[in-house]
Amino acid sequence: MTHPDDNALESTSLDDTAGRGGALDGNVLAGVVGALFPFEPTTARGQCDTCDDIAVLAQAAVYAHPMGFVVRCRSCDGVLMVVVDRDGRVTSSQRGLRWLSAADAR
Ligand SMILES: [Zn+2]
Repeated sequence: MTHPDDNALESTSLDDTAGRGGALDGNVLAGVVGALFPFEPTTARGQCDTCDDIAVLAQAAVYAHPMGFVVRCRSCDGVLMVVVDRDGRVTSSQRGLRWLSAADAR
């Protein structure tokens, strides 16, 4: 299996996209996801549809790609969310999230 270990979550280099060592933490989603949802990824929680793990989005392993981000489960490495930021439009799919919960942004 190719599970990212906990140390991979602490990688902070946006340019390091090669292999599993390129994982960023979910905090990098703050700007791009903020275009879609009015919550902080540091406080939003979600459940993985594959393994039932519940975690704060900021704890997910995030892989940066030229067109956006792939957000993977910290536990099973399943894809939780894909965010594409292209031509001034942010699009996301949360297919791998059973649910997503955030504090009221008021
Ligand atoms: Zn999972």
